Amino acid sequence: MNSRTDVLVLFSGGLDSILACKVLQDQGLRVLGLHFVTPFFGKPRKLPLWRETYGLDIEAVDVSEEYVRMLAAPVHGWGKAMNPCVDCKILMLSRAREMMTACGAKALASGEVVGQRPMSQRRDALNIISRDAGVRGVLVRPLSARIVEPTAVEEAGFVDRSRLLDISGRGRKRQLALAREYGIVDIPTPAGGCCLTEPEAAARICKVYAHRPSPSPADCGLAGIGRQYWAGDLWLSVGRNESDNRRLESLAEPGDILFKTRNFPGPLVLGRGGSGTWNPEAVRDAAAFTASFSPKAVRVGGPVEVGLTRDGRLAQVVVQPERSTPLGWTEPTPDFLREWKAARAER
Ligand code: SF4
Repeated sequence: MNSRTDVLVLFSGGLDSILACKVLQDQGLRVLGLHFVTPFFGKPRKLPLWRETYGLDIEAVDVSEEYVRMLAAPVHGWGKAMNPCVDCKILMLSRAREMMTACGAKALASGEVVGQRPMSQRRDALNIISRDAGVRGVLVRPLSARIVEPTAVEEAGFVDRSRLLDISGRGRKRQLALAREYGIVDIPTPAGGCCLTEPEAAARICKVYAHRPSPSPADCGLAGIGRQYWAGDLWLSVGRNESDNRRLESLAEPGDILFKTRNFPGPLVLGRGGSGTWNPEAVRDAAAFTASFSPKAVRVGGPVEVGLTRDGRLAQVVVQPERSTPLGWTEPTPDFLREWKAARAER
């Protein structure tokens, strides 16, 4: 880790986070961008490109374990989908605060803009975030600093407040003008990048939380792959293409079952479930469902061999392809997400 750093900046890869870094760099401060990674957001593979394009020092910080635990019950609740924006910011800033000593940093910064987002960037939410992350004296928001109270690092002159900005609201005009001033031509599109804000993706994740008592980061990653189906606490992930199939194969854990049609092309299907619930009937049911994704097997008709791989052992069953099986596999929907959140709110 770079120990010659003045300010650690939360770096999402969005324009505001780039500008926050640039405004501070402009004052001669040595900036290190922290790019947080979880199963729901973060693109660490883009780090080399970002470093080169924006001339910034950036490191990835993986907070998957604690993030997945927090998402089960965020203190400040979820937004429209399953996005716990206030708790998310608190978690990232808390981790950044813990990293300050090792980096020699005296301040933290983020690209937050007052009034830009309904949940986490209202003035009161920004105060709560600073308070609960324990960063009140050290956190600077360079894009909006001059319309909020100065922090201790500004008052001490470590960060020159007069060279910070007074941007507020949802518009992007001033940020785009500032980007031009800094010669930034690769302007990232606004929003995007966090699947917790997307109702369809959030429904898939929510299903995992509803059926697995302590989901792991790997569970949450699996929820993002291929087509997802559930029957009670039994879970199938169906590959949509070769890339999905390869990822599913690599994610198989002890107790999981990989289903694949033997003599016909078809997707790889990963079955995961509660302990002991993959009884022989459930396995046959999932195998018949798997076979129904092989158009050729369905066209030919008749029984189909489906290979099963579990804990390195191979087996097979012979089934009739069937999409509507007795177990009734269904895809998660945003309605399920709404009901799940309402039920949690009543507790
Ligand atoms: S949109 Fe996603 S990454 Fe951004 S603050 Fe909300 S939960 Fe965090």
